[in-house]
Amino acid sequence: MPGNNASTHEFAELALAALKKTGLAATPRNYELWYAHVEGKNPALSAHIQKAMDPDGLVTQEKADALYNKLVQHADISTDVLDLMNRFHSEVSDLYDLVEQTGENAQGHSEKLNDMSDQLRDSTEKYPAVGALLEGVISIAKSMREENEYLEERLAASVEEVNNLQRDVESIQREAMQDALTGVANRATFDRSLEKHINDAIDSDEPLALVLADIDHFKTFNDTWGHQTGDQVLRLVAEVMNANVKGMDLLARYGGEEFAIVLPGTSLENAHKVAEKIRVAVESRRLRKRRTDEDLGAITMSMGVAQLRAKDTMESFIERADACLYAAKTTGRNRVTHERQVTGQETGAKENVA
Ligand code: GH3
Ligand code: MG
Ligand code: MG
Repeated sequence: MPGNNASTHEFAELALAALKKTGLAATPRNYELWYAHVEGKNPALSAHIQKAMDPDGLVTQEKADALYNKLVQHADISTDVLDLMNRFHSEVSDLYDLVEQTGENAQGHSEKLNDMSDQLRDSTEKYPAVGALLEGVISIAKSMREENEYLEERLAASVEEVNNLQRDVESIQREAMQDALTGVANRATFDRSLEKHINDAIDSDEPLALVLADIDHFKTFNDTWGHQTGDQVLRLVAEVMNANVKGMDLLARYGGEEFAIVLPGTSLENAHKVAEKIRVAVESRRLRKRRTDEDLGAITMSMGVAQLRAKDTMESFIERADACLYAAKTTGRNRVTHERQVTGQETGAKENVA
């Protein structure tokens, strides 16, 4: 028998692995045979084992029994120890599964084995061969528990890593969809969303409205107060607009100082009301420069509102809303114009308005 735990453990592991390849069950007898075989101290036994194997390395239980009776000296193993070994048998076969898949039960198994080892130690002191076998199995269980703990740590670390990645992916997705300055949807999101809503509206025969909004004289504002203050105003306008859209409505930054709102299930009149509410809310804000507290005056917006028609493409729909916006600009700014108010213009708004 090997003199230290490390080699006992190694032999025990080798014996289990070798035994498994033969297709034999991990009974105490078989185990004892293969332990002696891998230990290599009994060349005659090893030679017999080699001979007992078929071309695939398999050994029948019959042959193993014959080898055991013939070759293993077990005069020193009394019946009570053999009984204990038999109780041990089920644990050893469970270990087979554990060797295959170090699962969550490994810890439970090894605790059970440790308990048993305490009981067994007394009886086996007299029988060093059996004691070594048991210690071998126990040390396998211990190393599997350690491995299991390591795997659990790795698993926890992986879960954490996956969560972090998930968060990164979500924030990248959000960034890709949002306008960096104002936090509202960007132009790409607007395009995708409008296309989808047009298809949905046609399928469901529900109305769909579009508002295009543009800040009035914003170039002058920028030239007077500086680009950074202009940026602050863009943020504020987005905030005010956002507070006035709800549900399925999508607010997007369409261009520099232009915004768009897609309003599914909304008639021209109702979309006009939403736009008018926003116009008043923006106009009523008194702007002050943060650091100097200077009065920046009021900001106003012009807006155009269109409703989807059966033959519309995305382009024709946007063009009509844009024509209404243009009309709002040319008739004085700080106003909302919807397509039924734009008569006889290039929008063709006279015909077929829902
Ligand atoms: P109108 O009433 O006809 O719309 O006049 P306007 O000056 O608003 O229109 P114009 O298209 O001539 O100018 C738009 C200005 O918007 C140009 C630029 O100074 C400003 N602008 C566009 N994008 C940004 C931006 O991201 N930040 C800031 N601060 N200003 C912007
Ligand atoms: Mg503009
Ligand atoms: Mg403008």
